[in-house]
Amino acid sequence: MRVLVAEDDPAIAAGLCAALRESGHSVDRVESGRQADHALSDHAYSLLVLDLGLPGLDGTEVLQRLRQRGDQLSVLVVTARDGVADRVRVLDLGADDYLVKPFALTEFSARTRALLRRRASHGAPEMHLGHLRLDLPGRRAWVDARSLELTAREFSLLEALALRQGKLTSRTQLVESLCDWDQELTDNGLDIAMHRLRRKLKGSHTRVRTVRGLGYVLEESADGQESS
Ligand code: CA
Repeated sequence: MRVLVAEDDPAIAAGLCAALRESGHSVDRVESGRQADHALSDHAYSLLVLDLGLPGLDGTEVLQRLRQRGDQLSVLVVTARDGVADRVRVLDLGADDYLVKPFALTEFSARTRALLRRRASHGAPEMHLGHLRLDLPGRRAWVDARSLELTAREFSLLEALALRQGKLTSRTQLVESLCDWDQELTDNGLDIAMHRLRRKLKGSHTRVRTVRGLGYVLEESADGQESS
C-alpha cells in the first residue's frame, strides 16, 4: 500500500520509512505540514504517519483539514507530546492511533499492520475472488491451498487490482500505487510485472482483462479462461 510519512526529524523519518518499506509498502516522505497537506490532496494513500510538531502547518491542523475534506484515510500520530490532553485532542480530531516518541520500530510496524488490517477488511480479514485468496495486511496470496510466490511489486499490483475488483483500474492508478516518489516505473516495467502476475494467477479462476487504452479489470473467469 502507499503510505505518507510526515516527519521533519531526518533520523526518525528514515527509520519509519525503512520499516514501512520492509513491510512492502510504497512510502512518500514530507517534512512540513504544508507539504503533507498538498500530498494528501493530490495522491491517494492508505495510511498517514503524522508527526504533530511539524514546521509551517502543525500536525493537528493537517489532521483537521484532512477530516474536513471528508478523507477517511487511516492516521497514525507519532509525537513527543505525551500529555493526556494532547492524546485526547488528537484522537478527537480523528487520528486512528497514537504512538509517543521514543518507540520501538517493531511496535510501530505492529500498529501500522493493525491499522491497515482494520482498513482493508472492515471486519473480514481476507479477500476472495475465484479461487484466489488474499491476505492484504499479511501480504500473502493463495490459489486454493497453494501459496503464491509473488514479489513485493507483483503483490502490490494484485492488491491495487483486487481493491477495485470488477472495476477498471487505469495504468496511472497502478503506477501510483506501485511507486513512491523516489522510484520510477517505466511502462515496460509495469508490463513485465503484469505479465508475471498473470502467469502466476493461472488456475485461480480470475483474470486481468485489458481494456485497451483505458486500463485493466481483475475479474472472475468461471471457465478458467486466461488473461487477455
Ligand atoms: Ca517534529
